[in-house]
Amino acid sequence: IVVIKDLRKSFGTNHVLDGFNMELLEGENLVVMGKSGSGKSVMIKCLIGLEQPDSGTIEVMGKDISKLNDDELDEIRTEVGFLFQGSALYDSMSVRENLEFPLRRHTKKFGVIEDTTPLVMEALKSVGLEHAVDLMPNELSGGMKRRIALARTLILKPKIILYDEPTTGLDPITSKEIILLMQNVQKKYKTSSIIITHDVDCARVIANRMILLVDGINYAEGSFEDLSNSEDVKVKAFFK
Ligand code: ATP
Ligand code: MG
Repeated sequence: IVVIKDLRKSFGTNHVLDGFNMELLEGENLVVMGKSGSGKSVMIKCLIGLEQPDSGTIEVMGKDISKLNDDELDEIRTEVGFLFQGSALYDSMSVRENLEFPLRRHTKKFGVIEDTTPLVMEALKSVGLEHAVDLMPNELSGGMKRRIALARTLILKPKIILYDEPTTGLDPITSKEIILLMQNVQKKYKTSSIIITHDVDCARVIANRMILLVDGINYAEGSFEDLSNSEDVKVKAFFK
């Protein structure tokens, strides 16, 4: 459902991605691990057209995203939900308004919706936070913010969800809840996901397959089992 071939991206002399390849299969949870600064977020940004690659191709749902015009790119973005590192809610908007925002912005998929309440409540129900509908972001805990950000993504019923460090900065119990939620979401919405994480426990639970991003390339790939038992020094470093 996503195919990245020979992706290259430099910032000046900093060659962040240097021939990165990746394929996301339909229905799978693909975990991407890499050191801080290795280019994971840059890769995701290229994937949704927020950064321009220097070279290489990215296909999303069969379309080469470099060949899309702004309208088409916008359409693809309704199919690809992206959870930013942190939760990035709009602080001046209530939970309801945060969830309505993508519905109002991307009217192509569902048309103009008079009464957004049913969709807002359905998305909130999926993350177990219907009661938070009229709260403001500053009234939410860190874990709740992540859930609301996920609900805001789900409201457009995407086919693909990109999670950039979904459990970072959360306590272990809240992390587990978020991971469980991600699994439930995948079952309910039949999504395919790319999960960027440093969190070995998260990877162990959720990964159908993993890719390690080292030195700008897909250095190693395989199941959690395969990689966590690897003898390769650079691979071992991830599982300490
Ligand atoms: P982390 O785990 O800390 O989130 P990461 O793997 O997501 O790290 P990226 O954010 O992808 O890392 O950054 C990779 C490299 O690219 C870093 O060296 C960063 O400084 C550089 N970089 C990212 N965006 C830009 C930009 N817009 N301009 C210049 N350099 C950038
Ligand atoms: Mg990052």
